[in-house]
Amino acid sequence: MPHYTPLIATIVAGLVLAFIFGSIAHRLRISPIVGYLLAGVLAGPYTPGFVADQALANELAELGVILLMFGVGLHFSLKDLLSVRAIAIPGAIAQIGVATLMGMGMAYFLGWGLIAGFVFGLALSVASTVVLLRALQERRLVETERGRIAVGWLIVEDLAMVLALVLLPALAGLIMAKDALADAAMWQPIAITLGKVAAFVVVMLVIGQRVVPWLLHWVAHTGSRELFRLSVLAIAIGIAYAASTLFGASFALGAFFAGMVMSESPLSQRAAEETLPLRDAFAVLFFVSVGMLFNPAIVLEHPWLLAGTIFIIVFGKSIAAFLIVRAFRYPTTTALTISASLAQIGEFSFILAGLGVALKLMPQTGLDLILAGAIISIMLNPFVFQAIDWIKPKLEKRKAKTEEEIAGPAEPAEEAAATLTPTSLANHAVIVGYGRVGSHIGDRLRELNIPYLVIEDRTDVVKQLRARGIEVFFGNAASSELLAAVNLPHARTLFVAIPESFEAGQIVEQARKANPSLEIVARAHSDAEKDNLNRLGASFTIMGEREIAQGMMDYAFKNAATPGPATQATTKADEL
Ligand code: AMP
Repeated sequence: MPHYTPLIATIVAGLVLAFIFGSIAHRLRISPIVGYLLAGVLAGPYTPGFVADQALANELAELGVILLMFGVGLHFSLKDLLSVRAIAIPGAIAQIGVATLMGMGMAYFLGWGLIAGFVFGLALSVASTVVLLRALQERRLVETERGRIAVGWLIVEDLAMVLALVLLPALAGLIMAKDALADAAMWQPIAITLGKVAAFVVVMLVIGQRVVPWLLHWVAHTGSRELFRLSVLAIAIGIAYAASTLFGASFALGAFFAGMVMSESPLSQRAAEETLPLRDAFAVLFFVSVGMLFNPAIVLEHPWLLAGTIFIIVFGKSIAAFLIVRAFRYPTTTALTISASLAQIGEFSFILAGLGVALKLMPQTGLDLILAGAIISIMLNPFVFQAIDWIKPKLEKRKAKTEEEIAGPAEPAEEAAATLTPTSLANHAVIVGYGRVGSHIGDRLRELNIPYLVIEDRTDVVKQLRARGIEVFFGNAASSELLAAVNLPHARTLFVAIPESFEAGQIVEQARKANPSLEIVARAHSDAEKDNLNRLGASFTIMGEREIAQGMMDYAFKNAATPGPATQATTKADEL
């Protein structure tokens, strides 16, 4: 019996094509996102062969947005969100204003009229949640100050979009009715929307913040991993859906708040881990669905208009954001990261432009330009970040020449990126990762009076270490610049004390090349990992789980060997 399965076909085509093209992109050393987008173009209606269901692909992409925003919310507290409001609110509003004006300027030259220009400019002014968060996550920036500002900025944009979506039909109504005094018709829906979003936030903070951690705790005590995983997912997508259908907020905002209230629970780390694989799969489908919208004909039909649109998205918006962030006296690195994050458009822009066309406020060409501008700006985004990495040291150098040292401690991330002063230590030990394992190594080295430094990529740990006067380099230790700064050729021992074996392998391999006689001690969690690290150059690899087993056996053996009270047993066994 033949049966029609568009959902399965869309998921299968999306994931399989994304895998093939993502792998090719990876081999060519370009961002896999480019591969995912091309996979979408192939699965889309404008290229021959299989055509996936666009509406379904869009819905799957929405799930990606929900899970991503939920994940970000899990790392955010209300305090974090409020701490960036002073820049995120005026910054996002000013940037939306500038970008909208630029879009209106372009529309003016095309003779589109004021309202069409407004819709076009507004659609150009908002960045894609998925692209922004992926970029921050890849660079481990979400939990830095720059990352928090970017996320706060995104939330303000999101709210502005929710308002714009209710504003547009009212605006269209006004134009149709040609009733200049129908002010109430315009302001009423905005007031109602704002009221509903505010009600959602209050409900989440008052009820959600109590109920969600309690529920999670309760499920964790059932002891069922399956139920725990299910509860996390159900809470995330359930709240996102309720936010959108009951309160008129967006899925993204709902999911963010779901994550934020869950972050109050000590189980939030586990909750985040549970959603990772699904989140990654649906984020990939997001890029495929964007690719499907791309009509290559627009490139031939309106090359100059497209170039203008891309110029506004990639240069206009980022320069505006850069100047705004600098005007708030934030460091250049922060300004550059925020502007690179925003140099693209995505899902909100399509929705807004689509509505604009449906309401006859903007011509179809506007939507075509937005769609093409989105795919091209998303493809360019990884290169924008690369360009910024390249430009950063130059700007910093110039600033250092013209300005006195800025007062006050900078964010560790900023400092590390701006100046990577090589260590002056020699014959020292290097600890990579200062967590449960690395911190014990540090304590022992201090007792033994052996000089050491740390490489760590969590800002809170870096701050604590700096406060204690310990030399620490912030960032991912797999980066060759960081490893070059820690003087491996003259070090005595390298402790690779991080749990991820893939990154550990990269670190060991580079360190071995830098110093063939260095003593490298690494951490592994399986025999396969241990063999791999040894093959890549580790002198000695400890399999953590085996040591735990050993410790357990030692304890049990001590207790079994000596009957009687436990304290006595320990002393006796110790004497043996
Ligand atoms: P634990 O598993 O508790 O020993 O913690 C590992 C520590 O290593 C954490 O503090 C991580 O932030 C840190 N870490 C993990 N991967 C890296 C990396 N690639 N570069 C630097 N620090 C890392």
